[in-house]
Amino acid sequence: MGAFLDRGVDAPGIDLDKTWEFTPEVEEGDEVGPTDVVGTVPETESIEHKVMVPPDYEGGEVAAVESGTFDVEETVVELANGEEVQMRQEWPVREQRPAEEKRTPRTPLVSGQRILDGLFPIAKGGTAAIPGPFGSGKTVTQHQLAKWADADIVVYVGCGERGNEMTEVIEDFPELEDPKTGKPLMSRTCLIANTSNMPVAARESCIYTGITIAEFYRDMGYDVALMADSTSRWAEAMREISSRLEEMPGEEGYPAYLAARLAEFYERAGKFENLNGREGSVSAIGAVSPPGGDFSEPVTQNTLRIVKTFWALDADLAERRHFPSINWNESYSLYRDQLDPWYRDNVAQDYPELRQWAIDVLDEEGELQEIVQLVGKDALPEDQQLTLEVARYLREAWLQQNAFHDVDTYCEPTKTYRMLQAIETFNDEAFDALDAGVPVEEIQDIDAAPQLNRMGVAEDYEEFISDLEDDIATQLRELY
Ligand code: ADP
Repeated sequence: MGAFLDRGVDAPGIDLDKTWEFTPEVEEGDEVGPTDVVGTVPETESIEHKVMVPPDYEGGEVAAVESGTFDVEETVVELANGEEVQMRQEWPVREQRPAEEKRTPRTPLVSGQRILDGLFPIAKGGTAAIPGPFGSGKTVTQHQLAKWADADIVVYVGCGERGNEMTEVIEDFPELEDPKTGKPLMSRTCLIANTSNMPVAARESCIYTGITIAEFYRDMGYDVALMADSTSRWAEAMREISSRLEEMPGEEGYPAYLAARLAEFYERAGKFENLNGREGSVSAIGAVSPPGGDFSEPVTQNTLRIVKTFWALDADLAERRHFPSINWNESYSLYRDQLDPWYRDNVAQDYPELRQWAIDVLDEEGELQEIVQLVGKDALPEDQQLTLEVARYLREAWLQQNAFHDVDTYCEPTKTYRMLQAIETFNDEAFDALDAGVPVEEIQDIDAAPQLNRMGVAEDYEEFISDLEDDIATQLRELY
């Protein structure tokens, strides 16, 4: 239709003429129930699409099965009770697709972003919000997640943001490779574009479309990650529609049911046992753009009440070019404890303790900074000066990560752990030197220390970090 939609037009959401290769997985006489898989279709290079009995069917005995090439409207399986299964399903987007039960998620959605995997992890099946003022890095963070999160399927909803951001996604993604499979990332990604120049009614429904598609793949047994950029534009669309319907306005003109709608959306995320017995998950990550970066406005506040992971973007950090500008004092993740066993088994036994060490050092830095601002750094005792130095490496070498650097853009959990270990090595060796009477200036001045900042971009990180740890130990021990 060109750049703009005409009034009142209708178009199928999926190509009705295209044909697909259907391989049945059931035989005549088999019993099937709602969402049971009756066959598969190679949808893309990386995704095997499972054709399921629609969830609102009664199910029963299979009366006839087809095999071969069909379009999405042709019947591929017929049930004895007359129900017909096509490759296409319809589902009202505002309604949650049914599932057997919701489970406690225990595996992290690994994003390859150090501050997220390391300090504020989200579980597969978890919910997270990224609020931040304009220009603080919401979109870059969402894109990073869409690119690197270890989900089987990524649904990216561009809701009410500028068109060029969506164009960027469409141009970038086909060139990127999935680090797990080596196949193009695009083949596991579903984009829902709803830019700021499109109608508000479409914007209001696009979030639902996204979550319904996510649930559909969840039913097939996949781990799905849904990013919505931004839920504030969605809430604004609700406000606009609500006022045209002459409903009673609530806080700041938003409809009174804003909180309920937000909760309904995030509640559809989770790790589920599906009706067909398969396990699947939907992780929902919503960007929030509070006007002026004021977190007390209704959308941010109501989102905060629901989500369990909160990545607070900070304009000050962005201004200082500290990226990702996620504030480590304000952010939190309620999944940490339930994910710890996974980290112990898959990354390192002492991962949670090492992380706690990093958190403590960063906390202490926060307190010391207040004193430093009053009396200056030199007035501090030497051990506190050294703590500040260690904290600086935590911030600059570990928490900072350049999304636009070929190597640094993705950091596997083991690398995140090793980098932290190297900083701890520096910490331990430096405090030993201090105890032995070496002045703090000399400790700070060793050649090896600044190399910590290069760990993120090091291609062969294992060798780089081992060598660096040796250098740090040798150079510090030479001082006494
Ligand atoms: P928002 O969506 O919050 O308005 P953006 O995500 O567009 O902000 O980020 C603004 C700018 O900040 C980006 O163009 C980029 O230059 C910089 N930036 C944000 N995150 C990172 C990052 N992780 N690494 C490098 N640069 C970043």
